[in-house]
Amino acid sequence: MKYEGIVIRPPSEAESLILQVTLGCSHNRCTFCPTYKGRRFRIKDLEVIKEEIEEVAPYGPFRKVFLADGDALIIPQPKLVAILEYLIERLPGLRRVGIYGNAKSILRKTVEEFKALKALKLGIIYLGVETGDEVLLEEIRKGVPYEQMVEAGRRVKGAGITLSVTVLLGLGGVRDGQQHALATAKILSDIDPDFASALTLMVVPGTPLYEEMEAGRFELPSPFQLLEELGTIIAHANFSRCYFTSNHASNYLPIKARLPKDKEAVVHLIHDVVSSRDSSRLRPEFLRGL
Ligand code: SF4
Repeated sequence: MKYEGIVIRPPSEAESLILQVTLGCSHNRCTFCPTYKGRRFRIKDLEVIKEEIEEVAPYGPFRKVFLADGDALIIPQPKLVAILEYLIERLPGLRRVGIYGNAKSILRKTVEEFKALKALKLGIIYLGVETGDEVLLEEIRKGVPYEQMVEAGRRVKGAGITLSVTVLLGLGGVRDGQQHALATAKILSDIDPDFASALTLMVVPGTPLYEEMEAGRFELPSPFQLLEELGTIIAHANFSRCYFTSNHASNYLPIKARLPKDKEAVVHLIHDVVSSRDSSRLRPEFLRGL
């Protein structure tokens, strides 16, 4: 099987078979995202996808499959159903399929369609929420406003599919960091996902946000300011049951918490690190990455 370009997957899909069913991202407009810049989005032909499944099948068993690239959920329902059916047929032992879906793609499908996908082992959808701040959502060109982002997340959960969301520390810059954190806590509470991860913004050359930073219109918060944002999000978000992590390579302080159970302890830990201003308690810059 031949992969094209950069292939990314969520950390929890590290042991999954990665099947590249689309190339690039259908949206490809987020101002902070360097991943698929300059690449044209394309959905692969069903016959090609089937050939690739056929090719890897003898190397199984594969319990988990992740459908890449950036927004494979945009695949029209009949084709996505055909891919899942073929995976089930050719990969005995398959338990779960995961996929990235942006809010626009999620909203193109009905709850009934998601239930049909769930019956075909689509078990988890990863949604980049990034922020709950209305103005920021527009500025970063995420493609949907607050209400639609919430509706997208709830639709996935309503179909009984596990929902994992990511938010991005630092997006509000130095000026609007706390506002971004409070609004992000609110959108997380409104969506109430099963899993949530806070990643830390890294401004990459070639992105519109990098140009903003170079022009002096955006200032990246310091590591301790970013941790303050993380503390605010965890302190203000209300989940019914969520596994919250900030252990991505971009983060300064790895956190794994079952919320709401661990809320107090985690908020206390973050507060302790922030007030110490002790950089040795943070992940060193050279170990950070996207
Ligand atoms: S939807 Fe995701 S992959 Fe696509 S441009 Fe935005 S952040 Fe990047």
